[in-house]
Amino acid sequence: MNSTLNSTHDASRQSWIPAANDPAGDFPLQNLPTGVFHTPAQPAPRVGVAIGDQVIDLAAAGAAGLLPPSVAAACDAPDLNAFMALGPVAWSALRARLSELLGADTCPPGAQQSAVATCLVPITEARMLLPARIGDYTDFYASIFHATNVGRMFRPDQPLLPNYHWVPVGYHGRVSSVVVSGTPVRRPNGQTLPAEAKSPRVGASQQLDYELELAAFVGPGNALGSPIPLARAEENIFGVCLLNDWSARDIQSWEYQPLGPFLAKNFATSVSPWVVSLEALVPFRTPALVRSAGEPAPLPYLASDANQARGGLDLRLEVFLLTPRMRRAGIPPHRLSSGNFSSMFWTLAQLLTHHASNGCNLRPGDLLGSGTVSGPDPDSRGCLLELTTRGRDPVALPGAETRAFLEDGDEVIFRGFAQKPGCARIGLGECRGVVLPANP
Ligand code: MN
Repeated sequence: MNSTLNSTHDASRQSWIPAANDPAGDFPLQNLPTGVFHTPAQPAPRVGVAIGDQVIDLAAAGAAGLLPPSVAAACDAPDLNAFMALGPVAWSALRARLSELLGADTCPPGAQQSAVATCLVPITEARMLLPARIGDYTDFYASIFHATNVGRMFRPDQPLLPNYHWVPVGYHGRVSSVVVSGTPVRRPNGQTLPAEAKSPRVGASQQLDYELELAAFVGPGNALGSPIPLARAEENIFGVCLLNDWSARDIQSWEYQPLGPFLAKNFATSVSPWVVSLEALVPFRTPALVRSAGEPAPLPYLASDANQARGGLDLRLEVFLLTPRMRRAGIPPHRLSSGNFSSMFWTLAQLLTHHASNGCNLRPGDLLGSGTVSGPDPDSRGCLLELTTRGRDPVALPGAETRAFLEDGDEVIFRGFAQKPGCARIGLGECRGVVLPANP
C-alpha cells in the first residue's frame, strides 16, 4: 500500500532520463507527479507524469501496452478524475510501473526503453491545464499561527476564537475561478470602507494579497451520508499541490461579517499543475503539531495515535515576488517567506474527516485548501497581511522598492519541496500568477 517505504523511494536509484538525476530538481524518479497537459501539435488534453525535464504521456504509454490495463483505461482521459476515483491500490500500481519503466536499473537501453521514449514530451512543450474537473472547493484555516496573527490585527483582546482548538474551520470556495499556475490574475473591483470613511466606495482593491497554501485533491471520496473515519482519510487523498488563495483584504474586511469570505476571494484561486502523491511523500511524514499544555485534545473522531505520530508533512513552502521593475533590471525573484507544512495545527487527514463528518459527500477531484501556511517565525508568514501587519510595515525588496500589498504587474511565485539527507528531493513545482490592472 501507499503508506510504507518501498523500492520506489530508494534514493540510490537513477533514471535513464538524465535530467531526473539532478539532485536539485523537482521531478526525480522518486516523485512521479501526475498532471494534465496538451501541446500545440496535440491539442487534446492528456494525463501525464513529470520525470526530470520530460513528461510521459500516459495515454500513449497505455496504448503501447506499457501500463496495467485498469490504470491505462482511467488515464486515457482529459482529466485525472477517473484515476483519482480508483483509489490507492491503483495509484500505487501506476507508481510502481512507472518507477520500473523509467529506472536506469530496471529499464536498460533496449526495445522497452525505446518504447517508453516514444511516449515522452519535453516539459517545455507541455502546456499545463487544471489536473481535474474540480466539483467542489473548500478552503480551511489550519495554521494556528496564521489564525492568531490575523486575529490579533482584528481582535487584539481575543486573537483566537474559542472554537479554533475544536473545529477545523473552513468555508466553501468557488470552483469556476480556480485557474492553473501561469494564468494572469485580474485585480478585482469591489466595495470597501476606507479608514475614517462613513460610507463605502466601489473601485479597484488597494490591498491585493496572496495566501500560500497546500491543497489536496480528493480520491474516491464518500457516499452522501457516510462519513470517512480518520483511519481511512488518507486513502481518500490523491495528492497535493500548491494553492494561491488570492485575497483582496479591503474588500474582505468590509464584506466578511457575518457569513465569511465571498467576493474578496472568489475572483481567482491558482493551483500548481503537478499533483504529488502521498506515497511520494512517505519519507517526509512528521508528527502532527504537538498541542501545548492547556490546549484541549481533539475530539475522538479527529484523534488517533497514527495521526499524531505521522499526520504531518515536512514540506518547505516558499513565496517569491518579482516586480515589473525587478524584471526589467534582471533581478531574480525575491524570497518573501519560507515556511513548513509541519507547523499546521490540523493535519490533511483531520481536515478531510471533519469535512465528511456530517455526511457531506466528497467526490473525486474535489479540492481542499489548507489555509494560509504560517509558522511561528516572522519569516514564515504566508501572506502580506501578516508579513506587513496589514500594510503598516512594508517589506523591502531589492532595488529599493517596498510592498505593503501587491501592485499591478507583480508576479507571485510559490515553490514547495521536501528534502532531507538520504532521500530524493520531492518537488511540488511552482504556482505562479501575474497581477493585471483592474477593469476600469
Ligand atoms: Mn485561504
